[in-house]
Amino acid sequence: MSTKDFIEKDYYKVLGVPKTATQDEIKKSYRKLARQYHPDANRGDAESEEKFKEISEAYDVLSDEKRRKEYDDARSLFGGARPRGGAQGGGFGFDLGDLFGNQPGGTTGTGERIGDLFGGLFGGRRQQSARRPRRGTDVETEVTLTFGDALDGKTVPLRLTSEAACPTCRGTGAKTGTVPRVCPRCEGTGQESRNAGGFAFSEPCRECHGRGLVVDDPCTTCHGSGRAQSTRTIQARIPAGVADGQRIRLKAKGAPGENGGPSGDLYVVVHVTPHKVFGRSGDNLTVTVPVTFPEATLGAEIKAPVLGGQPVTLRIPAGTPNGRTFRVRGKGATRRDGTKGDLLVTVEVQVPEHIDDTTREALEKIRASNSGDDLRSELLRSAREG
Ligand SMILES: [Zn+2]
Ligand SMILES: [Zn+2]
Repeated sequence: MSTKDFIEKDYYKVLGVPKTATQDEIKKSYRKLARQYHPDANRGDAESEEKFKEISEAYDVLSDEKRRKEYDDARSLFGGARPRGGAQGGGFGFDLGDLFGNQPGGTTGTGERIGDLFGGLFGGRRQQSARRPRRGTDVETEVTLTFGDALDGKTVPLRLTSEAACPTCRGTGAKTGTVPRVCPRCEGTGQESRNAGGFAFSEPCRECHGRGLVVDDPCTTCHGSGRAQSTRTIQARIPAGVADGQRIRLKAKGAPGENGGPSGDLYVVVHVTPHKVFGRSGDNLTVTVPVTFPEATLGAEIKAPVLGGQPVTLRIPAGTPNGRTFRVRGKGATRRDGTKGDLLVTVEVQVPEHIDDTTREALEKIRASNSGDDLRSELLRSAREG
């Protein structure tokens, strides 16, 4: 199926239904005609066979809502009539050269229109919707924030590269002042069929790579591809409290839409560089604070660091075990609703590597008063009992 077929063939007429026919009416009519012209019922009748093929082809297109719309669009583009000079069934009588004959060489003023037209007719997948509003594609990019910026949120400039029509040739791929011509190999369909093992495959035309057009004099900017990279910089607000590896969606900041369609979305994958002191656990910040054995044993008031603020004083009770965690409310990461998580302070009892004589004497006294053997006896007994 090709644009050429779309322009030349009146599928509604073939199926004997009006343009406004419902899917049911189309199906009903197709079934009736298919029975009438089925090859099994008309053995050896070439005319019936041909007619059966036509009916099937028409039904294939009209029974598929999407393809039916494409077909209607392609025909309405040409007023629903036979193209100029095209005799019924007489090949692709429509001469694209005529289109350009009365245009001043497809220069800036008209280039856009020509590009649109070709996009609509021969742009492969683009053929479906070239003139209808189309949503821009979603774009993904990455950004690396410091630990503090991730907590507070930050507006960052993002350089985005997307594919757009080449500005020099307006997407035609042809050098200024020249126009592409219809590919002679596929006659503008962009497809060619290949036979393999008795089956016919349709594949993109090798000459034009599925474009349906060939460019003799390529545009010097895009080398004939018709596509170009466009770069823009946007300011993106990364919300407070993002975590490493999080994917942020920024609505309508992606690639611009076509023909008045909405922009796509921008996804930003955020990397957060780790902090020397603080860690993250959801909305909470974590920090490990060293304490001495006497502080843990006797209890103490210790200072704990706060990110971006004055240290807080924390009371640890007597008999605090190593590794116990204390919660300082409201000193964590900012949540979506503006409230803050907590700071989780874990104490780590330090064993000094070097001690002076006074400390040694004091510790020897402690050692004499409570034996380590007593401490372990319960453990050893339990182990024996299994
Ligand atoms: Zn071709
Ligand atoms: Zn170009």
